[in-house]
Amino acid sequence: MNLIVQKFGGTSVSNQERRKCVVNKVLEAKKQGYLPIVVVSAMGRKGEPYATDTLLSLVDKEFKSSNKLAADLLMCCGEFISTVVVSNEFNRNGIAAVPLTGGQAGIITNDNYNEASVKKVEPEKIFQIVKEGKVPVIAGFQGISENGYFTTLGRGGSDVTASIIGCAVKACKIEVYKDVDGIMTADPRIVEDATLIEKISYNELFEFAEQGAKVIHPRAVEIAMAGNIPLVVKNTLSSCDGTLINNFGETTGKGLITGITYMSGRIQINTKLKDNTNNNNYADLLNILGLNGISIDLINVFPKENIFTIDESSFGKFKEIMDTFKIAYSTIEDCSKIAIIGNGICGVPGVMARILKSLTKENVEVLQTADSHATIWCLVNSTDKDKAIKALHNEFNLGSQ
Ligand code: ADP
Ligand code: MG
Repeated sequence: MNLIVQKFGGTSVSNQERRKCVVNKVLEAKKQGYLPIVVVSAMGRKGEPYATDTLLSLVDKEFKSSNKLAADLLMCCGEFISTVVVSNEFNRNGIAAVPLTGGQAGIITNDNYNEASVKKVEPEKIFQIVKEGKVPVIAGFQGISENGYFTTLGRGGSDVTASIIGCAVKACKIEVYKDVDGIMTADPRIVEDATLIEKISYNELFEFAEQGAKVIHPRAVEIAMAGNIPLVVKNTLSSCDGTLINNFGETTGKGLITGITYMSGRIQINTKLKDNTNNNNYADLLNILGLNGISIDLINVFPKENIFTIDESSFGKFKEIMDTFKIAYSTIEDCSKIAIIGNGICGVPGVMARILKSLTKENVEVLQTADSHATIWCLVNSTDKDKAIKALHNEFNLGSQ
């Protein structure tokens, strides 16, 4: 069967005008001989009536965190509404559609509420609906646990639903529709002249998403790659070809660097030997943090000091641990980790020098750096983040001029 998964995000289904564009994308796919399976997110963004964040604001923070099962049920509602409203729009345009919850679509998860993992997919109902000549419209971001409770898959989880369904039904491709033309060289909200990346390898896109690019969920990339299903990121509101994520390690970058992304809310930690003399715990610090579930990165271990970063969400727990083990440390809070990504940088001399020079020219203080075969990271104060991203984007000629 010529199946195709088409996933539409929150902004794509937020109002009727946009939902008409969704209809056109489905009609186009049908015209090309595909049998579409649609996945939708909740309608709109925070503040809009049926968006997930708005629904969450109906209950107390404390209730939400101590009743994750209830929070998941609430969070599923946005997508329930969206499947029916989108099906209505399909119906108006002569497309027979069947709205389905994630569970009805056969997505079975564990019971790790708020961040559930998919255990299996039973796609029989989807196949049946498609065979009847109808379009399944599936609620993204959710599943059902083996015990029959509604679960959600974590932020950006609708992208994950698209990939999971795509693999389960062995779709010809998965199209993920957004409000941008595709994967851009940097977040277009920060860099005005960011350009479209026409092709990118799964690995590079995974790195991009994992390092903070909010445009697609890293897990969605990973799942599509494992199932070897072509993934395309496109714009609901334009006819642009979008970004093709391919299997061949091929990227149409303009040069060394494919793109730049960032992660905010990082805290740099420095622990010095001289401040921790006669404390045996000092040498065991990284192990202690690991055992207590504190994830660290940008780790620089020196004979007389250790420097690393943590996410601000784990700072409370981190402080408790450091107090318990009586380890002295200093911090620089509110940092951003900028990732400069490109398979082309591997082994090329002088890239780090160019990065540092362009940042220095803009008076951006670099707090720390690290590199791997395809990524260079720079830690900067968050107040410098936008300036730094723009300077690097410019330095590596990623813009449209
Ligand atoms: P959806 O709700 O459809 O899943 P998202 O809002 O999650 O869409 O993702 C799209 C947004 O991601 C864009 O509007 C854009 O501002 C942001 N974004 C961040 N980095 C990038 C990037 N490198 N390329 C494209 N968009 C990006
Ligand atoms: Mg999203």
